[in-house]
Amino acid sequence: MTLRTATAVIDLHALSNNYHLIQAIAPDTKVLAVLKANGYGHGLERIAKALPNADAFGVARIDEALALRAAGIERPIVLLEGFFATEDIAILAANNLQTIVHNEQQLDAIINAKLAKPLNVWLKIDTGMHRLGINPEQLTQFYQALSQSENVQQPIVLMSHLGCADESKNLATPKQIALFNELSANFSLEKSLANSAGVLLWPQSHYQWIRPGLLLYGVSPLPSQTKVEGIVPVMTLQSSLISVRTIAAGECVGYSGTWVSERNTTIGVVAIGYGDGYPRHASNGTPVLINGRRVPLIGRVSMDMISVDLGAQSKDKVGDIATLWGKGLPVEEVAEFATTIPYELLCNISRRVHIQLAK
Ligand SMILES: *Cc1c(COP(=O)(O)O)cnc(C)c1O
Repeated sequence: MTLRTATAVIDLHALSNNYHLIQAIAPDTKVLAVLKANGYGHGLERIAKALPNADAFGVARIDEALALRAAGIERPIVLLEGFFATEDIAILAANNLQTIVHNEQQLDAIINAKLAKPLNVWLKIDTGMHRLGINPEQLTQFYQALSQSENVQQPIVLMSHLGCADESKNLATPKQIALFNELSANFSLEKSLANSAGVLLWPQSHYQWIRPGLLLYGVSPLPSQTKVEGIVPVMTLQSSLISVRTIAAGECVGYSGTWVSERNTTIGVVAIGYGDGYPRHASNGTPVLINGRRVPLIGRVSMDMISVDLGAQSKDKVGDIATLWGKGLPVEEVAEFATTIPYELLCNISRRVHIQLAK
């Protein structure tokens, strides 16, 4: 007997398929492939190595950037929130890492640093999301300071971020694009605005650099559309049935007995739980794929297990493979049942989940 426990099957062919599809959607742009949060749970170094042609990689923490350099990745790497400590500037310079600048503290730290080599800088402007970025009226001051500093490699890149790009009818996006155009019109600099949803829905946001994350991993960023033509999921999360038993009508299943069977049926237990990153808030009825059919999750998600209702006629056996999401069952759908977004499910994959590369 060998039962499979939680395993993320990673299909790197799907990854390069998605990369080429994205390039075809935005043919005249460079691609900054976003790898933050352990490559959205797919493995930071693994994903970077599988995208040898990416024009740059984007990460959120300096540790992620250093892990990539330690793994021998030589492509440009950009810290998407910039650095968080003055001491980091020397590390950025020594490891040829690029940084975003979005506040006065970062600007001052760069200008006052003593560097052997200038840094590549992306200047982030807030065009309406009101999370990170300098205010539009600070642009001239920041640009002048950066363009006059010996510590900054010229030219810089201008960037901003879209807050509502996944909603095709939301007028916030054309407003952000218009403001970004207006602010950047007087600079002949490279520009970057689009995340995955921008790549799909807003061609005017492509400019010289697109910044796809989720779409690279084969997942749709659009809540209304779980299928993007040609995009293939990179991660398929699987485990197996470790118990198959019958219960009678009226019997309950799982912690606190929250689910009660209305009929005699067969209950399967799958070796996956919130300890693996399967969402504890997945509700009754969340689909699980077993032997080619969708069966409903029942009762509470435990740390190491979930239960499913296999039905009275079930022929499923201990050891049969269960797919929690990926090929055949979009993670976008599972996310809805867990009242979250696919981003969170992917990057919550925990350390004990085995990784297997698809052939
Ligand atoms: C995470 C991130 C992205 C990628 O977003 P997706 O929706 O996954 O494509 C792009 N740009 C910035 C600044 C980010 O932080």
